Amino acid sequence: LGLATPMSVMVGIGRGAREGVLIRDAEVIEALETVDVLLCDKTGTLTIGRPMVQAIEIFGEYSEDDLLAITAGLEQASEHPLAAALVEAADVRAIAPRSVNSFESLTGQGVVGKVDGREVVVGNAGLMAVNGIDTESVLERAETHRQQGATVIWVAIDNVLQGLIAIADPVKDTTPAAIESLRTAGVRIVMVTGDNHTTAGAIAKQLGIEEIHAEMLPEQKHDLVKSLQRDGHIVAVAGDGINDAPALAQADVGIAMGTGTDIAM
Ligand code: ADP
Ligand code: MG
Repeated sequence: LGLATPMSVMVGIGRGAREGVLIRDAEVIEALETVDVLLCDKTGTLTIGRPMVQAIEIFGEYSEDDLLAITAGLEQASEHPLAAALVEAADVRAIAPRSVNSFESLTGQGVVGKVDGREVVVGNAGLMAVNGIDTESVLERAETHRQQGATVIWVAIDNVLQGLIAIADPVKDTTPAAIESLRTAGVRIVMVTGDNHTTAGAIAKQLGIEEIHAEMLPEQKHDLVKSLQRDGHIVAVAGDGINDAPALAQADVGIAMGTGTDIAM
């Protein structure tokens, strides 16, 4: 093809009431045929995209319900699928989420804010580390959940680690066959996710995906696309657009999975 700039064409795949494939540009049909590497986001692309809380473990003075009320309060303002899982879990237990005084979302890491006057940090190990909160001493408790494919969210209140919440999102029924037929067609499949290495590995293993890039920030996903392109590959990216919008835009073909976030479209 020898193009100086990537084509960056987009396909949108909707589901439910809006099921179907939306092709932004006819060029995409030709481009798709030349794709030799497909980068797949994990959550919502390989998995169903409707994560559910599996377990809550408490380390300190807060009860499970308190932890959930505080976490759900903070997550109410987030549009991440993990946030929806936490808010729903509170709802199922008839727990009223606490009111939030301030809120900041850190893409690919988690959320921080003030709840009932307390500093609350909810997110991955990287976010905890940045805030000087150690998770290494309770790592084993997280690994147990991760080995089953669950995502572990840490909860710290006023700089003390108070618990973890394990959230699971099963592989879509249609994923194994889709991966298999792509592989048969000669496409190299790569999982790229912001999630933890152990969790990503557990999901990848279920699908026979051997190439995994875990704990990737949005900018790193974008850089991975670029470096594959520099090596002469024609790259497609399939993702939900929540944290992979830069990668979707950089790809030769961007496939926006249709929980249909506006940014993906
Ligand atoms: P993925 O690549 O699987 O879509 P993200 O890049 O969105 O994942 O997020 C990476 C990790 O950051 C998540 O696995 C989670 O640990 C943490 N995270 C992101 N957003 C949130 C949130 N709103 N609440 C808690 N944790 C979050
Ligand atoms: Mg995502």
